[in-house]
This record gives sequence, C-alpha cells and structure tokens, in this order.
Amino acid sequence: MEAAIKQSSLDIAAIRAQFPVLAQEVNGYPLTYFDNAATSQKPLRVIEALNQYYSVYNSNIHRGVHTLAEKATNAYEATRASLQKFINSGEKEEVIFTKGTSESINLVAATYGRQNIAEGDEIIITGLEHHSNIVPWQMLCEEKGAILKIVPISDKGEIDMEDFRDLLSDKTKIVSVAFASNALGTINPVKEIIEAAHSVDAVVLLDAAQAVAHLKVDVQALDCDFLAASAHKMYGPTGVGFLYGKRHLLEEMPPYQGGGEMIKEVTFEKTTYNDIPFKFEAGTPNIADIIALNEAIGFINDLGKENIRTYEDDLLAYATEKLKAIDKIQFIGTAKHKVGVLSFIIEGMHPFDVGMMLDARGIAVRTGHHCTMPLMQRFELEGTIRASFAVYNTFEEIDTMVASLQKITSRIN
Ligand code: PMP
Repeated sequence: MEAAIKQSSLDIAAIRAQFPVLAQEVNGYPLTYFDNAATSQKPLRVIEALNQYYSVYNSNIHRGVHTLAEKATNAYEATRASLQKFINSGEKEEVIFTKGTSESINLVAATYGRQNIAEGDEIIITGLEHHSNIVPWQMLCEEKGAILKIVPISDKGEIDMEDFRDLLSDKTKIVSVAFASNALGTINPVKEIIEAAHSVDAVVLLDAAQAVAHLKVDVQALDCDFLAASAHKMYGPTGVGFLYGKRHLLEEMPPYQGGGEMIKEVTFEKTTYNDIPFKFEAGTPNIADIIALNEAIGFINDLGKENIRTYEDDLLAYATEKLKAIDKIQFIGTAKHKVGVLSFIIEGMHPFDVGMMLDARGIAVRTGHHCTMPLMQRFELEGTIRASFAVYNTFEEIDTMVASLQKITSRIN
C-alpha cells in the first residue's frame, strides 16, 4: 500500500492544511475524523466565503437594485451555474436550491408525486435506502393508496437487477434509489436501473447524497429524471442542497411552497407562478451557505473527482485489509462497488461501546442504524460501527484506528 500512497497525485498534507478543524486534539489525541458520511469537514475557502458574505455584502437577493443586492444575487446564481456544470445538467434552471437531500426528495414526493400517483400505482425503492428516501414515499403511498415495493438486499449488501426487473410493471410510476449507500457504501447500478425503469415509463430519482463528493455524476449521461444531494456531505455548509429535475417535469409540477420569489403576480383572486427554478424557491433562501457551496464545488474540482475517487478507493482497500486483523470483526456490506464507507460489527461488543472507546482515543466514527433501520433489520442488527472516508484522511489514521480497535478488543478475549 506504500506504493498507493506514493501514487496518489494529491498532496494530502496540503489538503489537510486547508481544514482547520482537523488540526486539533480530542480527548488528548490528534483528531481522526472518520464520520464523513454523516458530514464532511469544511475547507477554509468555504468558511471564508461565509465570512466574506456576512462581512462585506450581506443582502437579500433577486429583488434589490442596489450594489450589495446585485453582488449577492450574482454570487448566489454563480453557485447554480457551477452546480449545473458539476452535475452536467443541460440548463441551470434545472437546478433548484433546497435545504438538502431530505427536502429535495420531499419536494418531489409532495409535488410530482401528488400530481401523478393514483390508487394502486407503485413506487419502487431498495432495501438499503436512508429514511429520507423511504418516509416521503410511504407518506405519499398512504395518502394516495399507492404501493411501496422494495428491492431486496443480498448478504453482500447489493441489489440483484433481476429482482428489480421482477418488480417493474406498468403500475410502476416512480423509482427512487440511492446512488451510493450511506450505511454500507454500496454503489447501486444506477444507469441500468434508470434504463429499466424508463422502459416502463417510470421516472427515476437518484438520492446522490453519498455520491456527489466521491463519484462522477452526469445527469445527462445517466438520464435520471431527478437527483437530490446535500452540500454538507461535499465539503460545503449545512442547511443547503439541491434538486436537479428535467425541465419538462419541473415545469409541469405544481409549486412546493407558497411565498415570495415563487410568484409572477399575486392578486387576491389568483396567483401566477414564477418560472423554474424560482417556482420552487419560496422565501429568502439560505443565501450565505449557497454562496459558500460554490467554494466547496471549487475545492472538489481543483483536486479532480477522479483523483479523489482513486485516493479514497485506496483508503478503503487499505482499511478493509487492515481491519481483517481485528479479532471477531464482521464486515457488513461487502459489495463489489463501494464508496469509502466501512461498516462492521465486533462480536461480543455493542457498536455504541466501541464508538465511545474510539472517541476516548480521538477517533470519530458513527455507530447505530445510520438512518437505515430497515436495512439493519435485514441484517438482524441494531446497528454497526461505520468508518467513512474523505480526501483528507490518511493511511496513518487508519493504522491508528486499527491499533485502537486491537487494544479495545483484546479486553474482551
Ligand atoms: N440519503 C442518504 C444516502 C444520506 O446519506 C443522507 C444523509 N445521511 C440523506 C439521504 C439525508 O441527507 P440530509 O440529512 O442532508 O437531508
């Protein structure tokens, strides 16, 4: 693996220097942050963009004619343009700012879903979805008398395309699947899923929360109908994210929320709605964080997604190999294609206790159900220990975690 370290075209020390939060001790140890699937850390350029907005040109957007309003509007719309390129959507109007993945999925369920789903229709998700990609569809099915169908998950944590095809029929109206699983790391065969779903005229939403920072996302090449993601998992701020939708779908959908910005004209008799994307952006948005998201996109682009992917793959392979040395460890999720997420349990130990003991050594991992309770039920587990990687993580940090786990587990033998 030394070779892999040298081969990386990225200067990891220089990257780490851009993340002030990493240079601290936690409980007397240097921080090892392996909770990136929950939220990644933010580089200085993102933090500075927030500071700059509030210190220099804080202003509401779109309606102002004064200089600060114009500056803020331009910066806000510049993020939309960057996102368009980042996911290769055909037009920037197809990118809608939301609070994050959860709100993006809820938006589609409450608008497209309410408009197009009728009694007896079917919506397909997979057994590894985050609660954000389960509950909005359950709510819609309950309201409409529609049926939620689940693609089963194999022991390795994968879906079988045959199982998926078996569920598809002319009753299928929406397919909503994770691009990559936050709990297991599995990368779903999304291109195949989209093609198959389109063959029965179903629309497909991709939950790309765990994909945007790690995998190439090209909405035109994928031909997905909707795509949802959060800024905070891609080195950007919390509280913002986006929804991509194909223009013709977004135009036909009713608004999600009423308020300022989403209207063209309001009288007490009738309101006409604004064009996309503004039709879906009621009220003053999270201007500062959206502006700062542009810096997160810049950070990823400057490093290169391919380089990030290669490096994180190396981290994952290294960690998987090293963790095998831990007594009584069992990996949960051993899919062929994975992002940098390692879920495991240690026989005889509660994941929560392992998490606490790692924290006492400055190592941040996540323990529990990872907002995927049905997936945990599938594996007959209450939860797992999850280490998830980002581009600033190092092979040495993995060694530190493995050494700590060795100490922790030696106590139970
Ligand atoms: N889907 C997946 C796959 C996720 O990992 C997450 C966040 N853990 C979400 C949806 C929800 O994202 P958010 O909380 O940012 O809305």
